Amino acid sequence: MAKKGFNTTNLHSDRKDNPEHGVLHKAIHTSVAYGYEDARVLAEVFQGKRAGYNYGRQLNPTVTALQNRITAMEDGIATAAFATGMAAISSTMLSLLRQGDHIVSSAYLFGNTNSLFGTLQNLGIEVSFVDATDVSHVENAIQQNTKLVFVETIANPATQIADLAAIGELCKDRQLIYCVDNTMTSPHLFLPKTVDASLVVNSLTKYIGGHGNALGGAITDTGQYNWSDFSNIIDTYKSQDSSLWGITQIRKKGLRDMGSSLGPEAAHHLAVGSETLSLRMDKACSNAIVLAKFCESNSKVNRVYYPGLKSHPQHDRAQELFKNFGALFSIDLVDNVDCFDILNKMDSVVASSNLGDTRTLAIPVAHTIYFEMGAERRASMGIADSMIRFSTGIEDIDDLLQDFEQALA
Ligand SMILES: *Cc1c(COP(=O)(O)O)cnc(C)c1O
Repeated sequence: MAKKGFNTTNLHSDRKDNPEHGVLHKAIHTSVAYGYEDARVLAEVFQGKRAGYNYGRQLNPTVTALQNRITAMEDGIATAAFATGMAAISSTMLSLLRQGDHIVSSAYLFGNTNSLFGTLQNLGIEVSFVDATDVSHVENAIQQNTKLVFVETIANPATQIADLAAIGELCKDRQLIYCVDNTMTSPHLFLPKTVDASLVVNSLTKYIGGHGNALGGAITDTGQYNWSDFSNIIDTYKSQDSSLWGITQIRKKGLRDMGSSLGPEAAHHLAVGSETLSLRMDKACSNAIVLAKFCESNSKVNRVYYPGLKSHPQHDRAQELFKNFGALFSIDLVDNVDCFDILNKMDSVVASSNLGDTRTLAIPVAHTIYFEMGAERRASMGIADSMIRFSTGIEDIDDLLQDFEQALA
């Protein structure tokens, strides 16, 4: 049978494994523990000799169903879900890296990931931050002890786009783990597997869940990386097929030992939200381009950052790689226009820190999510004090336009 499309596959995912009563949504299973008639089977589950559930911190049927959806969306081989996107990133780094290792990271990063990488440095893991929009900067930063390269697809908040394909080739050539945070594009706009990513991060809180009503994160193994090339896999996790070594170590060390597990209620919300990902994303992207163009021609706006604009330095790359240009754009205001005044005049746009919601949200980034990192690092990331980041929702475009018109009048 021909492989079904993105939406069809996701919509019919939960009923594929014969659910009780023929339910179309996987049930919310709240049981923490699982009982076994035969204690020998329980032991086999613990020893990994048989599939099964042992304890809710490691596995839960509702969470497994969501993991299967994400794996299918990313065209991967396995997914581990976590309580948040940050839990997915931190657990992955802490389970795969050791003291004395080195990673190369894009300098253009989600603020909390940037802060987390500072913690890794304090633990004795070296991190080089480079301008990843050009592969040569990544290549020049590689050292003898480099284990992993980390980039975001479209970076927050100035929308730089990493040199995704060339970095993929470089990582393949040097046998480095290539970890791509796909949150901003989501698997509807882009599959990092197509540029040889090894591991894909998604904050499920954002576009995949899509309604700002549940936190979650996921790491998906694309099957592209050869884990037998990776020296940090613990022998205990080498019993199965080598393609599963990485995700097994992330599950055992990152999920079981560190414990940031996704709850079944959240998993249900995120799974239901994911069913309309492509519809929401298409609408949010189409709203974003209209608003970005409006801002570009407005005299109170000094600069607009949106990959869909011809003025964007990586516009051609975005066009080539992504199905659309994303639903996030930022603006710098001209001198003497106060970002707080503009935000306070807005009505359909909510001043809020999230993104990927159905509602349009806006935030003065230098004063909030990028405040802690300090002025110097903000400047190096291209974040001006007057910058406002917008995450477009799916409202009627006429209402959003009117709101921008009156706020920027
Ligand atoms: C929000 C976000 C995260 C973290 O996700 P949470 O679910 O909020 O922990 C990671 N990366 C990017 C690009 C994000 O936007």
